[in-house]
Amino acid sequence: MAGLYLHIPFCKRVCAYCDFFKEVGTLRLEPLVEAMHREMESRRDYLGGEAVRTRYFGGGTPSLCPPERLKGLLEHAARLFDCSQVVETTLEANPDDLSPAYLEAIRHAGIDRLSIGIQSFDDDCLRLMNRRHTAAQATEAVRNARKAGFENITVDLIFGVPGFGGDSLRRSLARALELDVEHISAYHLTIEPGTAFGRRMERGEFAPVDEAVSEAEYVLVHETLTRAGYEHYEVSNFARPGFRARHNAAYWHSVKYLGIGPAAHSFDGQERHWNVSSVDRYIAGEAPEAEILTDRDRFNEYVMTRLRTAEGIDMAEASARFGPERTARMRQNADRWILAGVLRCDGARMCIPPERMLLSDAVIEELFET
Ligand code: SF4
Repeated sequence: MAGLYLHIPFCKRVCAYCDFFKEVGTLRLEPLVEAMHREMESRRDYLGGEAVRTRYFGGGTPSLCPPERLKGLLEHAARLFDCSQVVETTLEANPDDLSPAYLEAIRHAGIDRLSIGIQSFDDDCLRLMNRRHTAAQATEAVRNARKAGFENITVDLIFGVPGFGGDSLRRSLARALELDVEHISAYHLTIEPGTAFGRRMERGEFAPVDEAVSEAEYVLVHETLTRAGYEHYEVSNFARPGFRARHNAAYWHSVKYLGIGPAAHSFDGQERHWNVSSVDRYIAGEAPEAEILTDRDRFNEYVMTRLRTAEGIDMAEASARFGPERTARMRQNADRWILAGVLRCDGARMCIPPERMLLSDAVIEELFET
């Protein structure tokens, strides 16, 4: 079973923290969609005949795409790939795009899961991040989505925003709970070079929250959401039972996926491919670049993706896939973290307790094969 990812790289304006590949405005939407149709045709054999299980429109802001274009892309995919067993079709959306008419139309186009980029329910925080919606619009968007019949909604929240921890974060979490969404992704703000926040940081006007604050906010998110019945199943992801993100889980479990559109990544089971990060060059038909994964790359990727999930590493599976010596070396390198209580290992399984997962990158790096 495979995944299909479709990247719509347009945004109305640029958020202060964003370093994703995107372009402001939708002037080139039509030629881009046509190029995506052509790319699907030229890569029709990429998944080796495996059935597509999940489809995902990411961006950018896919909700800037008219419903008939989304439908056209899904129909074209269904002509080229086996889409008879699809269980989830997600669209990333900005709240202010989700009018009742748009919601109705995309549901009929085949979208059954919405990923709404809310980030915060605090208007001051939204302004700081240069988001284009208000907290009231975000609430309205979720309510309208329910009325339109969406039964699987996830919202994104950001924590670790300087000046917006404590009560502001508590209120955002409370509002998300009130809306009773099936899934919540909560990301720590990262200040990347080249973004508005990055430039402000260079000028000394903005600074990340310190580590103790990051950890305290992460624990607050974890405790609030798990107490409300959400499973904390991946470092940034929380789900009501039965509502884990299936498409993203495919990335964590090395399932094949085909990424269509500029800057989209693909994996065919052996090699990773990525498309050019330029709308012009993509429309001109520039071929994807490829990277062949070595055994060591695969091992490190396995360690990284598994330790970011609540299930962690199945030691018998690791040993069968990567050999007992490599697995034993990793186990040895884990000692220090097990003693510190950041890693748990009962012999059969090694994992980071969800409330400590914010530290996962530091732990994971030490377990990597160099
Ligand atoms: S809407 Fe999403 S992709 Fe576009 S600028 Fe904001 S964070 Fe980046």
